[in-house]
Amino acid sequence: MLNKTKVVATIGPATIEKEQLRRLMENGMDVARINMSHSDYNFCREVADEIGELNKELGLNVAIMMDLMGPEVRIGHFVNGQAHFTKGDKVKVYMDDVEGDNTKFSVSYPNLINEVTHNNVISVSDGKMLMEVIDILPDAFVCEVLNDAVIEDHQTLTVKDVKLKMPYLTNKDETDITIAHKLGFDFIALSYVSEPDNVLAVNDVLINLKNNHIGLISKIETEEGVNNIDAIIQVSDGVMVARGDLGVAISLERIPGIQKKIINKCHSAGIVSIVATELLSSMEHSARPTRAEVSDVANAVLDGADAVMLSGETTVGKYPIETLKMMEKIINSAELDVDYGDFISRSANAVKEDITGVISLGVADAANRLKCCAIIAPTQTGYTARVMSRFRPSCPVIAVSPNLDTVKSLQLHFAVNPVLIDELNTFDKIIEVSKKITFKLVSTKPGDKIIITGGYPFKEVKFTNFMKIEEL
Ligand code: PGA
Ligand code: MN
Repeated sequence: MLNKTKVVATIGPATIEKEQLRRLMENGMDVARINMSHSDYNFCREVADEIGELNKELGLNVAIMMDLMGPEVRIGHFVNGQAHFTKGDKVKVYMDDVEGDNTKFSVSYPNLINEVTHNNVISVSDGKMLMEVIDILPDAFVCEVLNDAVIEDHQTLTVKDVKLKMPYLTNKDETDITIAHKLGFDFIALSYVSEPDNVLAVNDVLINLKNNHIGLISKIETEEGVNNIDAIIQVSDGVMVARGDLGVAISLERIPGIQKKIINKCHSAGIVSIVATELLSSMEHSARPTRAEVSDVANAVLDGADAVMLSGETTVGKYPIETLKMMEKIINSAELDVDYGDFISRSANAVKEDITGVISLGVADAANRLKCCAIIAPTQTGYTARVMSRFRPSCPVIAVSPNLDTVKSLQLHFAVNPVLIDELNTFDKIIEVSKKITFKLVSTKPGDKIIITGGYPFKEVKFTNFMKIEEL
């Protein structure tokens, strides 16, 4: 069975060894994510090299996503890598680098001292420690700690209800975008996107690098991002519901509703959606997930997300491969319960009344009614496959393309299984190739049907203009 809902797995110490990466790839990871808050150039190169080699070896096309650190404020380091704070402690926060302990530490954003005021509440390490600003000195500000906490090096720091004046694109992010370009990455995830201009700023860097294939995924993890979602969708290739930081920025109970709304909006706009963070987090330490986590993964599938993501589970967890296998199992089962007919009618309302729109609606509907075992979409740019994905057909969409960038760009799309072929040939040849690939990827029996759809003549027509039903 080919899964339709895609899995993004974050690579970290638990999975960087080649054998671990191989097992992730063999067990269904579609996209490998590198979190630049915790990774450097050498790490990126290692992942790119290993995945490149394994793709060749295993005949796969696993894509790579760089997740930018974004405009974050991080604290410096502590004498022993951590510090124990007790409620009532007075702590000086320095703009210059100091060795930290439970009386002082430094921050990465020098202008912070000019942007905080008395009584501001400061959250360290995603809310693990709260502090209140009680005094502002020339070179530091003083806070009173509001709860007991142990804080590690380089954790994030936010100021509640204050939008810092930091520019969206930091020097670090700009350097990292260049790395993603050089190493041939396929997606960049943009942290803390709050408005469309943030996405355009990253896009400008890519234009200067003459890179037109990296897909941009906007991470929604602030109140502003939630409020500007419609405009952000307009300029993005995909959106991530980044529930980790979102759950710090807004009240937790609002997240399930926001998740559903964002997924629906992405679906109507025809861009991909990813649900991220804590989907199976208990499996960082345990070989079995909780019932609530299983429901969470299944509900993301039933909501119509294109992809789900693993973070701590595969970076530092004790059971990275078991977690991935569990996720695939839940996805497989949940996909049996998806109301595909409902998705088709919803997409039909949004479809354009043009040739592509009418043909692809026809294909999706025919595939469901005839219980076809696959839709094959020969494609140069990925266009036909993306349109088909949007209709959420009940069978897999196998996108065949001679363009490797196109193949990898389709790794996040629901139901799309991209396959690299030599070239887009004559019509007869494509039918032959389509049948071969179907036999290889899906279990079939004589009499099963496939639908081939695309734009013909292949290299000339840039929209979808045909459907051909073939019996196997
Ligand atoms: P992060 O983003 O893992 O880079 O913080 C995801 C999230 O915030 O949920
Ligand atoms: Mn985040």
